[in-house]
Amino acid sequence: MENDKTKAEIPSDLRQCVAFHGHLCPGLVYGYIVAKESIRLLGLRHSTDEEVVAVCENDSCAIDALQVMLGTTAGKRNLIINDYGKNAYTIVNRSKGQAYRFSRKISFIYAGKHKDEFETLEKAISAGTAKEQEMIRQRLLKAIDLFSRPFDEVFTAKPSGGPVPPYSTLAPSVSCAICGEMTMQTKMLSGKNGKLLCLPCSKNN
Ligand SMILES: [Zn+2]
Ligand SMILES: [Zn+2]
Repeated sequence: MENDKTKAEIPSDLRQCVAFHGHLCPGLVYGYIVAKESIRLLGLRHSTDEEVVAVCENDSCAIDALQVMLGTTAGKRNLIINDYGKNAYTIVNRSKGQAYRFSRKISFIYAGKHKDEFETLEKAISAGTAKEQEMIRQRLLKAIDLFSRPFDEVFTAKPSGGPVPPYSTLAPSVSCAICGEMTMQTKMLSGKNGKLLCLPCSKNN
């Protein structure tokens, strides 16, 4: 993150998201504000196991903020990505059996206090003449504007009655009949002679 007086406006929990993600960007802020609102609406605590699930309808930067803020991580398999290219997220509290779906409702129009500067930066970016520092600055201004707004100006939040995704299951690993590599049995397919094959081998044979 650049050294700038606007940097001081960034809350410490968002800084943690930036440390994980690698940069501050509007996408990360979308995930951050959805996480904060879901914590409030669903009374969530950071998920140490799979009691919170995030179902994301894109594979954008936002997901990294959900991983940090909610503990819904790729490794715990309580982060489900259905990439429909939508800025929408369903957050499930399994212990309460409650869920909310959040969907972004506006096109972004800058409304912060650096409007002239933002417009100059936007022009340089669309003309392809912006320097890297200018692009970082534009993302910073956009990010600050986004998280400064009332949540419901940016997203709708509706209770979701859809099915709760099942807990992930563990299955023993067995060796693939072709490559010999240990593979989770439930992820394997039967080959011609009924022997179990891993997916890459079953595609090539
Ligand atoms: Zn990003
Ligand atoms: Zn194999």
